[in-house]
Amino acid sequence: MGAPEAFTQSTDVGHWIGGQRVSGTGTRRQAVWNPATGTVAREVVLASTADVDAAVAAARAAQPAWGDTPPIRRARVMNNFLALLNQHRDKLAAMITAEHGKVFTDAQGEVTRGIDIVEFACGVPQLLKGDYTDQVSTGIDNWTLRQPLGVVAGITPFNFPCMVPMWMFPVALACGNAFILKPSERDPSPSLFMAELLKQAGLPDGVFSVVQGDKVAVDALLNHPDVKALSFVGSTPIAQYIYETGAHHGKRVQALGGAKNHMVVMPDADLDQAVDALIGSAYGSAGERCMAISVAVLVGDIADRIVPLLAERAKSLKIMNGMELAAEMGPIVTREARDRIENYIGVGVTEGATLVVDGRGCTVPGHEGGFFTGGTLFDHVTPQMRIYKEEIFGPVLACVRVPDMATALRLINDHEFGNGVACFTSDGGVAREFARRVQVGMVGINVPIPVPMAWHGFGGWKKSLFGDMHAYGEEGVRFYTKQKSVMQRWPDSIGKGAEFVMPTAK
Ligand code: NAD
Repeated sequence: MGAPEAFTQSTDVGHWIGGQRVSGTGTRRQAVWNPATGTVAREVVLASTADVDAAVAAARAAQPAWGDTPPIRRARVMNNFLALLNQHRDKLAAMITAEHGKVFTDAQGEVTRGIDIVEFACGVPQLLKGDYTDQVSTGIDNWTLRQPLGVVAGITPFNFPCMVPMWMFPVALACGNAFILKPSERDPSPSLFMAELLKQAGLPDGVFSVVQGDKVAVDALLNHPDVKALSFVGSTPIAQYIYETGAHHGKRVQALGGAKNHMVVMPDADLDQAVDALIGSAYGSAGERCMAISVAVLVGDIADRIVPLLAERAKSLKIMNGMELAAEMGPIVTREARDRIENYIGVGVTEGATLVVDGRGCTVPGHEGGFFTGGTLFDHVTPQMRIYKEEIFGPVLACVRVPDMATALRLINDHEFGNGVACFTSDGGVAREFARRVQVGMVGINVPIPVPMAWHGFGGWKKSLFGDMHAYGEEGVRFYTKQKSVMQRWPDSIGKGAEFVMPTAK
């Protein structure tokens, strides 16, 4: 593959309302950084409540006709969108790398995993098929159908500016809703490009909108009576706030939160595979993934064998501008996030963990202003330490040593987060028990980052998800539709007079 073309556009990033770019009425702006160089690349406009109101009004006006459009025609629009995404995959990936910092090949993977959901949404006619019972009582039939909610909104985090919105809007749109996206203000550009592609694909104006912004925009969506459902992905405190406030206003809410994902390595695990898995999943995307492994649970004597191998690999990570094709790890999204991560490393040292590899103070030649930090490895971490309990969201791997599987399971099940987990072993019985007993939403057996495919649905347990429906898959279809039950009887079977008892089958 030749060198990819970098995304360098410097114009302000605004909203997408009524099928066009608008700058809105808000007067506030926020810098969007290029994290590899540490310079401001462009600014994003922050929506006012009036901007959100305008997006909701456009959505409300457009939704009835879209909701009435036969599902197969909505699916065809998704199909056109799919083709456009495939055509522009690298442009989207370059936008992600420019604002998030993750390496270009990883950004391509992000776009591909988003495309998976669009492919799933293309099958929506089959997914919306209802069920039917002939003759529930003499001359009476009953069937169920699923109808769109109306106007729905999604609020998304910085770490997957393309894939996480695509966990939501392809399914929501295919089900006949109008969708308003409030992306992260830290990497806003891909959202507008996706809006343009949807328009090119034939989506009617107003059905998809983007409002850039911060808490002001989020609160306006939470408070708006015409927004019927909210999907959120981000940190746990905000997820809980969105869930509680949305529920208070009578909205349907799914709010995915933070994570602290463990990977158990049993003494019989393939050592090389376990090392590769830990290095890739702890340091890939600089640990800024909700499915990143941040705790290695080392069972029995594997610890003494694996820690030196992990240390060697963590020290030799290729850290550079994510647009370099040789890069294994790029910069952290912002200076504040980098400082927060490095502060946690100091906390770990103070708490008494063994700092095996210290990633602090990493500089990349030619990119001295970039927000880089190296891969960090701690050993002898205990469950009482903050670096074990809290989400660091950076390239910091904590090794906890335990004597057996029972202790490993207790440790994981006692943790407040329950997003993803993995177990590396060569014993099928151990793996089966682990998968059954672990209190976590997504489980990998010899798979470090078990992000479910589009038709399976994504969601954690405990403080990693508020609400009861997972994102995408059939759960997504259920989330974005409401069930209606219709019972019919035709006149020649009527005429038996009023019935005052509960109808039963006759
Ligand atoms: P964040 O919670 O800071 O922001 C997420 C969204 O909420 C953004 O759109 C932001 O503008 C908005 N927001 C921020 N503060 C707000 C406030 N006070 N009121 C209302 N809205 C507010 O998260 P982030 O830093 O962008 O993303 C990283 C976090 O997301 C991590 O905790 C990570 O684990 C989590 N995450 C979870 C999943 C998952 O599937 N469970 C997936 C990706 C990321």
